[in-house]
Amino acid sequence: MPGTKRKTKEKIQKEGRYARFKSRSKKLKYIKTPGGRTKIHYKKKKPSKAKCAECGKQLAGTLRKHPSKMKNTPKNSKRPERPYGGYLCSGCMRKKIVKGARTK
Ligand SMILES: [Zn+2]
Repeated sequence: MPGTKRKTKEKIQKEGRYARFKSRSKKLKYIKTPGGRTKIHYKKKKPSKAKCAECGKQLAGTLRKHPSKMKNTPKNSKRPERPYGGYLCSGCMRKKIVKGARTK
């Protein structure tokens, strides 16, 4: 049969990539349709990791979800529940609190 020849991934990419998904940084997922054709699905990009405002270290205990998913997650699972949680790392928070107590 003439229509059953398999296409290469490059060919599918060339056919399937249209204007707003032309970016090379988008992650692709090849999906087989019930009709036997291969289509491209695009994965959503994740936001960057949260960083400490003082030292720039990556913050632990913070989520990395799409903003639309973040809306429905409870606040206490988005950042650690302590002073400056989700803003400063634990070391910088400790320093800041100690510094504040000493200057009084
Ligand atoms: Zn820090």
